Amino acid sequence: MLKKVLIANRGEIALRVLRACREMGIATVAVHSTADNDSLHVKLADESVCIGPAPSAQSYLHIPSIIAAAEVTGADAIHPGYGFLAENDRFAEQVEESGFIFIGPRADTIRLMGDKVSAKKAMLESGVPCVPGSDGALPDDPDEILKTAERVGYPVIIKASGGGGGRGMRVVEKREDLIKAVEMTKAEAEAAFGNPMVYMERFLQRPRHVEVQVLADEHGNAIYLGERDCSMQRRHQKVIEEAPAPGITAKEREKIGKACVAACKRIGYRGAGTFEFLYEDGEFFFIEMNTRVQVEHPVTELITGIDIVQEQLRIAAGLPLQYKQKDVVIQGHAFECRINAEDPYSFIPSPGCITSCHLPGGFGVRVDSHIYQGYRIPPNYDSLIGKICVYGNDREQAIAKMRVALSELTVSGIKTNAPLHDDLFRDPGFAKGGVSIHYLGHWLEERKAQLQAEKQAEK
Ligand code: ADP
Repeated sequence: MLKKVLIANRGEIALRVLRACREMGIATVAVHSTADNDSLHVKLADESVCIGPAPSAQSYLHIPSIIAAAEVTGADAIHPGYGFLAENDRFAEQVEESGFIFIGPRADTIRLMGDKVSAKKAMLESGVPCVPGSDGALPDDPDEILKTAERVGYPVIIKASGGGGGRGMRVVEKREDLIKAVEMTKAEAEAAFGNPMVYMERFLQRPRHVEVQVLADEHGNAIYLGERDCSMQRRHQKVIEEAPAPGITAKEREKIGKACVAACKRIGYRGAGTFEFLYEDGEFFFIEMNTRVQVEHPVTELITGIDIVQEQLRIAAGLPLQYKQKDVVIQGHAFECRINAEDPYSFIPSPGCITSCHLPGGFGVRVDSHIYQGYRIPPNYDSLIGKICVYGNDREQAIAKMRVALSELTVSGIKTNAPLHDDLFRDPGFAKGGVSIHYLGHWLEERKAQLQAEKQAEK
């Protein structure tokens, strides 16, 4: 087994990894910026190293400082968490070249899946269904581009091969707008990602976001842990996740799961990973793969009983998977609410000192959070301060549990988006299940209009 793991991250995910290590008897090293001196994972780690000032570029993204910290503390492996350097192939490469184990896939796999054109090609070759579109990158010839769009069918979406975080995409409704849109997306992609390559897909009108969790070891074994529904999104950012995805049959699950496992074996995947799909009219369409642990992994853990982070650690140590596909039994229903330090109406971040807080608990309630009374949320990083997860025998029971859990949560001194979750867990449309990725956006627009009308009436 690994002896000492350096956690190259912060916040709730650093704490999540730390807990997994401690349960397995693995020593931990926290690295942190000066803004995170008082962070819970820093206090709980066996050792900690300050790697730089608050700006991420000089700390959590600064590769030489992280590797130096691993050398000084004698760590044998590095866990990147999510975000920051988790999907940076150069980081994975440098970690391994420096003689440490990178807890994740090999650098060349990260590179392959990080480029969306090469990722899609690899998926098509493995039999994973993709959104119909251009055959790889779009050529320069306008006639060819127009022909491709005719074949794919309008509306189409132009996407940057190097894109991420919901950026570098443009929807085109009609032929007249196509060439200009391609040129603009190329220019933006070059500026933002240093790679002007773009490709085309059919723009799906009302898809759901359904993703499949996988685990693969170095010995050629791979399994899928069912799917999650992450359709409740605001500006491509997930807000609520659940597992299993409402309405997906066991047969559908098995079919898409097996395709993902075949793809893992074909690309020689190692570690935990997620295949993201758009799901519409009973069909799955691959959009991208995340080659790391995801924020929403707890909902899968709750319905399978499998600790995904501990599996990552075991796989990194070179052990074979301890589960076979037949051992993966999906039971009950789980939700996750992402709690952000932000205004629940304007979504403006709300950093500052937490003067008091009470976190929910009880049967089937799991809270992954690094906050505590007196903790100061620095303004430098993303606004996620914790995740409330619930597990029930069925979806209805899980909704009831989440309502109670949310009602118990109190955080003073800063604003959180908990009131938004409160409202959503009372919304009949969401309660029905199976909403599309546009549902929350429309819901928020309606709420805004209603609040404005109420204000007008008061005057
Ligand atoms: P990123 O890496 O930037 O997150 P993705 O390829 O995962 O990019 O797409 C992000 C989001 O954009 C999707 O969750 C979906 O909302 C929308 N999207 C992407 N491709 C399509 C498509 N072909 N049709 C409709 N919506 C799409």
